[in-house]
Amino acid sequence: MISLKNQIILITGASSGIGNACAKIFAREGAKLILAARRLERLQQLANTLSKEFSVEIHLLQLDVRDRIAVEFAISNLPSAWSKIDILINNAGLSRGLDKLHEGDFQNWEEMIDTNIKGLLYLTRYVVPGMVSRGRGHIVNLGSIAGHQTYPGGNVYCATKAAVKAISEGLKQDLLGTPIRVTSVDPGMVETEFSDVRFHGDSERADKVYQGVTPLTPDDVADVIFFCVTRSPHVNINEVILMPVDQA
Ligand code: NDP
Repeated sequence: MISLKNQIILITGASSGIGNACAKIFAREGAKLILAARRLERLQQLANTLSKEFSVEIHLLQLDVRDRIAVEFAISNLPSAWSKIDILINNAGLSRGLDKLHEGDFQNWEEMIDTNIKGLLYLTRYVVPGMVSRGRGHIVNLGSIAGHQTYPGGNVYCATKAAVKAISEGLKQDLLGTPIRVTSVDPGMVETEFSDVRFHGDSERADKVYQGVTPLTPDDVADVIFFCVTRSPHVNINEVILMPVDQA
């Protein structure tokens, strides 16, 4: 097992859910955290909590991952003490609606494609060259069981997560011959704000979809990510699927 002490870890989507849980577990282990999301207030609250509990160094980035120019600017203008990113957690993502393709909402499609695919590509494109030149690094992409099984109404979201799976596999191939590792972590249902975002706060509709399943917690997923990034340097965990016991 390798130590995360003083490793610089960039987490996108750290203002909520799985990203937030990752920040906590990495802070506990003495990592230095770059926390990114659009809601800066949320990031500030998290940073205050973590600073009180652990003596952790944190750098905040208010960032919309869909904005390529903003991503480039954010990464290339990191203060020098923060610029050598060791681990990138490409976690920012969302689902919108559960519509049949022929009734789908274009704005929802664009938001999912721009966030889940293009945002992940932009972060990867701007962070990985530094890893290659330093000869160290690990990229963890949040995929989903939705990238393996398409469910009714899930067309576009499932397609974005199938793309994440393909991108993770392709990046692993592109980085062969370097010590840089690539992992896709693909959960089933996790209890976060994800379903509020998907159903615009319509909890009755959300409850129907998630009926009968005890979901994973964000900590369950963060634990798995922690396991993946702390293996010996010669071990690459390519892909992990983790599911609630009672989810098909
Ligand atoms: P949450 O809704 O709790 O968190 C999503 C995070 O993504 C938020 O921090 C949000 O921050 C950030 N985000 C969304 N859009 C953008 C953007 N344009 N730019 C920057 N940050 C953005 O959901 P989860 O924690 O559940 O989701 C995390 C990942 O896990 C996603 O990729 C999701 O697809 C995946 N996943 C989730 C599952 C689930 O059941 N919950 C199952 C399988 C995979 P902000 O709004 O502040 O920008």
